[in-house]
Amino acid sequence: MNHFELRDGVMHAEDIPLPRIAEEIGTPVYVYSRATLERHAQAFRDGLKDVPRKHLAFAIKSNPNLGVLRVLARQGYGADVVSGGELERALAAGMAAEDIVFSGVGKTRAELAQGLDRGIGQFNIEHEPEGIALAEIALAKEMTAPAVLRVNPDVDAGTHAKISTGKADNKFGVGIDVAPEIFARLSALPGLNLRGIAVHIGSQLTSLAPFEAAFKRVGELVADLRAAGHSITHVDLGGGLGVPYRAGDNIIPPSPADYGAMVARVTRDWDVTLMFEPGRVIAGNSGVLLTETLWVKPGATHPFVIVDAAMNDLARPALYDAWHDFVAVKPSGETMTASIVGPVCETGDTFARDRLIDKVEAGDLAVFCSAGAYGATMASTYNSRSLVPEVLVDGDRYAVVADRIAAGTIMAAERVPDWID
Ligand SMILES: *Cc1c(COP(=O)(O)O)cnc(C)c1O
Repeated sequence: MNHFELRDGVMHAEDIPLPRIAEEIGTPVYVYSRATLERHAQAFRDGLKDVPRKHLAFAIKSNPNLGVLRVLARQGYGADVVSGGELERALAAGMAAEDIVFSGVGKTRAELAQGLDRGIGQFNIEHEPEGIALAEIALAKEMTAPAVLRVNPDVDAGTHAKISTGKADNKFGVGIDVAPEIFARLSALPGLNLRGIAVHIGSQLTSLAPFEAAFKRVGELVADLRAAGHSITHVDLGGGLGVPYRAGDNIIPPSPADYGAMVARVTRDWDVTLMFEPGRVIAGNSGVLLTETLWVKPGATHPFVIVDAAMNDLARPALYDAWHDFVAVKPSGETMTASIVGPVCETGDTFARDRLIDKVEAGDLAVFCSAGAYGATMASTYNSRSLVPEVLVDGDRYAVVADRIAAGTIMAAERVPDWID
């Protein structure tokens, strides 16, 4: 459920007609709905109603916009961060340091120190040397770092290979078979309060089975660690719950309620604080990318609809062959079969091939749906295009929450050395 819908034949974000945003801000532009963000944040929490002790940390890599983060902070969400930059964003958005979890496969020593200085709530350790480094840095600061060990459960998440993270040959976590010995060595280090386990097997999961398989393995590991005398108080179950991207698709991701019921059943006897790192399930369907049709050009089989958004603004189709529904802002009721492409000089700058879509002509507005997660945050200025702006709608008002950064501003940060003559 989201708050992007047709009213009197015109697509709105909550109470704002999208042509108004196009006219006042220009296109392409990301448009987020506060009510949708809040609804999803609430639905995820409600789904976990049978989990007695829990901590919700929004995976801010999915949408790090400060306005979006503030909305989620007010919903009681902390943050899962994967860099020092994201850590500062979470704090700037008003999230409490103790509600921040630091994930990420390649944290630097400087980032570990930054996390300690900021007093964050938990470090998710990716491998033994990182744990040793964290313990050393903490000890030098006369601190104790709260931490869990991320394990790789060797489960196939059944999602796109580029966003699978829990197979044995992925770069994330330590193998679950060697986890007990690594846990034993790390937990003996002064400077570290190793209190549990983390797992995150991938993103855009459309079935509960891989989650359940991974969580059960973690449950067995927790029992083994306790039997070996370790105190386990926290288990971080990561994120990864998928969202529907395609209207009428027959693959429907599990609802937060179904996910939560499975989690409650599998973890019933764990007696820990469970931590969650949802990203896409909160932000994905809370945003659209609003674009204008520049040209409609004949093609060999079907026409090309050339829009003013491109792969630099929304990378997911080029990166993961991802599907985003394309809907006219003022649909006429007529349809056409076309390929939807952007202006960037790459064949990969293709949003859809030979797809049945609302009929559009030059000048018509349209949206790419479900663009609230892994959208603007992956944008670049490739082809010297501007950095795409972001707007947050709240009922009948909206605000620009990220400016369009003009190509000239980017160019102003570059220098020609005077020794080139
Ligand atoms: C990316 C990521 C998430 C969020 O994944 P979603 O699929 O957006 O829910 C959570 N935890 C970790 C460690 C991640 O890398």
